[in-house]
Amino acid sequence: MTLCFESPEEARRWCRSERDAGRSIGFVPTMGALHAGHLALAHRALAENERVVVSIFVNPLQFNDPGDLERYPRDFAADAALLEEKGVSMVFTGTLEGFFPGELIEGALPEERYLDPGPAAEGLEGAFRPGHFRGVATIVDRLFDVVEPERAYFGQKDYQQCLVVEELARRRGGPRIVVCPTVREEDGLALSSRNLLLDEEGRAAAPTIQRALEAARAAWNGGERDPDRLCERMGRVLATAPLEVEYAEVRDPRAWSAERPARLDQHAVALIAAGASGRAGSRVRLIDNLILA
Ligand code: AMP
Repeated sequence: MTLCFESPEEARRWCRSERDAGRSIGFVPTMGALHAGHLALAHRALAENERVVVSIFVNPLQFNDPGDLERYPRDFAADAALLEEKGVSMVFTGTLEGFFPGELIEGALPEERYLDPGPAAEGLEGAFRPGHFRGVATIVDRLFDVVEPERAYFGQKDYQQCLVVEELARRRGGPRIVVCPTVREEDGLALSSRNLLLDEEGRAAAPTIQRALEAARAAWNGGERDPDRLCERMGRVLATAPLEVEYAEVRDPRAWSAERPARLDQHAVALIAAGASGRAGSRVRLIDNLILA
């Protein structure tokens, strides 16, 4: 039986009693509309911990676009059924007021209450979604306070988010962050709750993102180390599909930089964000990445 709590306070009490009983807790934070990518994180957490906790909270602090927040898919009943089937111990939701009791002013969190997301928040997602990572860091910190897990599980699909959360965990002195591989559709498209919002044209175009990343990897494997040429390679593939490219970039994962590095040697990751055609004339923002070496 999966326990469901609507309030973080109840969740905190349950987690504390489990920890007091000596049971390890693995934690998977999500925004719901669960798919096999989320379930892979839960699966790994179940293998490594005695109890697994999943949070479902569409965090308004990390949405820079109100339309995006409004359109974000939500289906708690379906999510709870999937987690039950998986054998997750507890799932909790919450409201902004519930996570920050007495701290909101006119429904918003005051500026000074946001955490600094650190240097990995610079560039790419940080540049295209201003304020996104401070919203992520602030809520994840609060979620960690509620659950106090031993390990927390995040998907590589949100590569820069993993770097931000790793830095946050370092500053807090835990939990241990476990980064799990990206789960994909058969045609290569990274699973995402947002894929539900694509229309036919957008769905057909979306796998081109992964093909562009693969092209960069093929070039890398062929000896290409020039960042500009790796990016050009991705750009050429992306241009074959109706996608609005925000960025197609490479970075050194060991030394994150806001700008494209002048050169790469042993370590590289390629990252793409692009808009695809969504239902009712909307635009669906998709991201993906691939470690080149
Ligand atoms: P979200 O609900 O989109 O905030 O995602 C919750 C967690 O699931 C994050 O750590 C994501 O990186 C992870 N995740 C999302 N999509 C995938 C995927 N396709 N493969 C693996 N992990 C994923």
